[in-house]
Amino acid sequence: MRFDVVVVGGGSTGTSIAYYLSANGAGRVALLERNWVGWGQTGRSTAVVRLHYSTPEITKMALESWRVLKDMEKLVGGPSGFTAVGFMMFVGPEDYDGLRKNVDMQRSVGVNSRILQPDEVRQILPYVSSTGMAAAAYEPESGYADPVATAQTFSSAAVTNGAKLFEKCEVKSVKADGRRVERLETSSGYFEADVVVNATGVWCNDFLAMLGAEVPVAIMKEEIVVWKRPENLRGLHPVVGDLPNNFYMRPFADHHTYMGSINPDTENPGKTPSAFNLEEKVGIDTAGRYGDAVSNRFPDFAKAEFAGGWVGLYDVTPDWLPVVGFSRHYENLFNAVGMSGHGFKLAPAIGMHSSNIILGKKQHIIEPSFLDEKRFVEKKLAEKTYRYGVIS
Ligand SMILES: Cc1cc2nc3c(=O)[nH]c(=O)nc-3n(C[C@H](O)[C@H](O)[C@H](O)COP(=O)(O)OP(=O)(O)OC[C@H]3O[C@@H](n4cnc5c(N)ncnc54)[C@H](O)[C@@H]3O)c2cc1C
Repeated sequence: MRFDVVVVGGGSTGTSIAYYLSANGAGRVALLERNWVGWGQTGRSTAVVRLHYSTPEITKMALESWRVLKDMEKLVGGPSGFTAVGFMMFVGPEDYDGLRKNVDMQRSVGVNSRILQPDEVRQILPYVSSTGMAAAAYEPESGYADPVATAQTFSSAAVTNGAKLFEKCEVKSVKADGRRVERLETSSGYFEADVVVNATGVWCNDFLAMLGAEVPVAIMKEEIVVWKRPENLRGLHPVVGDLPNNFYMRPFADHHTYMGSINPDTENPGKTPSAFNLEEKVGIDTAGRYGDAVSNRFPDFAKAEFAGGWVGLYDVTPDWLPVVGFSRHYENLFNAVGMSGHGFKLAPAIGMHSSNIILGKKQHIIEPSFLDEKRFVEKKLAEKTYRYGVIS
């Protein structure tokens, strides 16, 4: 089968790219997914949607994406599950100047964000302990979404625009001729295209290995714990990021909270997902560690019940920012990978940005070189405010 563009990977990244390509006149677009849309790390995401970043480029992408996620029904034609519970990020004294700098920059690009002193935080979250807290950044209009619903909305809208979706379609080998990708051999037959998009997430280097190429992406494990909150903490609460205690959390319905660590396991990176066990149970050791961290900040959480959890993987680049752009090795191969644990909230903008580059548009959300893989060769990596990569 021949297409103008074939997108491989039906997560939040690939579905968004397929949608914006199909909405912007890319011609015949195919979206190939080994299992089902949302099956990959998108389906394991806690889907926090915050706008706090260190660079104006990624802040602009987060803002553009937030605008889509909050109005997904109207703009794309289906749900994203976006819920505006607000986002707060607590910092200790060592990060106060960085917080101030980031909030000033955010405001200059149009983000509704401000600094709260600990007593102002307590007015919103009366059960918080301000030990070790110098201040918080507060985004009242941020929140969280439903990652699988978002990917399904993008893929359905792409199909409505004329794209073809192939689920249970695994790319098994890739044939190239010189600097061009010629053909994808899949479990559903072969595909040829003018442009091939690699949106395979943590499997990106397995995909590229079929072409003898790679990108600088390490795979890291992240564990999520689910808490059933005690009676006095029922209802939705804001999304919280706590740098001094190295955790973040978001509500899941009225009774539960998903909690993750701000830093994934950076000590034991792997090259591909096969180095990890995605069925691994999140056990009592992790629950104990996470329980200590959350009850330092919210003492009433000491009474929360451990209600399970899951393991997920991040595809992490050296500067914790995605790789988006044409490959250095193959002229018609476009990579949109290395989401570094924060790719869900950027997915709409990554779809728009990728589609603009692929279609040769002159206008871009950000300068394309900012996320191009050449930055690793030229050693022009983006600077971060904090020592936590995921809040880059
Ligand atoms: C535990 C966890 C929590 C997270 N929390 C947040 C958060 O709060 N906010 C946020 O913004 N981000 C978060 N993220 C990150 C975010 O979810 C991911 O960056 C994003 O969803 C990745 O989407 P993707 O489409 O790039 O990859 P994936 O969703 O993994 O999609 C890649 C797809 O490619 C398919 N594929 C791979 N190889 C092939 C092949 N050979 N043939 C066909 N198909 C193939 C896979 O089946 C898969 O479905 C979190 C991630 C995890 C794991």
